[in-house]
Amino acid sequence: MHKDIATPVRTRAILEKYGFSFKKSLGQNFLIDTNILRRIVDHAELTDDSAAIEIGPGIGALTEQLAKRSKKVVAFEIDQRLLPILEDTLSPYPNTKIIHEDVLKADVKGMIETELQGIDDLMVVANLPYYVTTPIIMKLLEEKLPIRGIVCMLQKEVADRISAKPGTKDYGSLSIAIQYYTEAETVMIVPKTVFIPQPNVDSAVIRLTKRKEPAVSVQDEGFFFQIIRASFAQRRKTLLNNLTSHLPDGKQKKEEIIAALEQAGIEPGRRGETLSIEEFARLSDGLSPIFS
Ligand code: SAM
Repeated sequence: MHKDIATPVRTRAILEKYGFSFKKSLGQNFLIDTNILRRIVDHAELTDDSAAIEIGPGIGALTEQLAKRSKKVVAFEIDQRLLPILEDTLSPYPNTKIIHEDVLKADVKGMIETELQGIDDLMVVANLPYYVTTPIIMKLLEEKLPIRGIVCMLQKEVADRISAKPGTKDYGSLSIAIQYYTEAETVMIVPKTVFIPQPNVDSAVIRLTKRKEPAVSVQDEGFFFQIIRASFAQRRKTLLNNLTSHLPDGKQKKEEIIAALEQAGIEPGRRGETLSIEEFARLSDGLSPIFS
């Protein structure tokens, strides 16, 4: 058995050996608690036939736990300085592969086809760099990858927004965008003390389970998201006000927008944050002929 990477003593020894200094700009907060890591991996429900895709392996703390519990792990790491460290720390785990690339620029689908061929159960598991949490999650969902879901650590405040229900202060376009593709739940709250260096914000782990079909079916997905963005553009404004101000030629089309809202059974004086995803879908289908 190898000594776990994620202990304060071993992590410090690795950092010292390589003279590694953290880059705040890359969201480098490494986990130093093996227990927390095991619990994160539990939530991914991996088997010996699963593969894990990791974003940002750091010095390999989570990668190691994933390697012990799956067939293969492929991890994208942007920071070149970590490559020799990972080669060393992950040498006992031949089922791991590190790709030196910014995940936002990477061809993840192509990687799955070449590296994970024949593996049916794929999960993304990550302790995400907090400066790019949302773009990373949205990229993974919008590219419609053949994954079962995502289990990831992020800022608690973002986790609250992702899993928020209509009518709450955290509910917004991010909640809808993610709940459109997945069932979202917060599964763990994580204290700052298990990171080195400690982040300034509280953290949480969310599990996003991909739906077989999106939560609602809409005629034009792009327009549906445009309506949602417009509806939340200014939270204190009514739906009608936001739609007329933030859709192209909205002011000239006010009467038609009112008619479409009424047709969809939505009172124009409501605020965007009170609408369910089904109501947004009805509204989008009703408005789309007016704006196409
Ligand atoms: N997985 C490690 C752990 O749990 O201890 C490190 C997590 S740390 C929060 C985030 C990691 O993501 C860092 O290693 C950082 O260099 C890497 N990273 C930051 N931006 C990235 C990007 N755009 N693509 C890939 N990796 C990135």
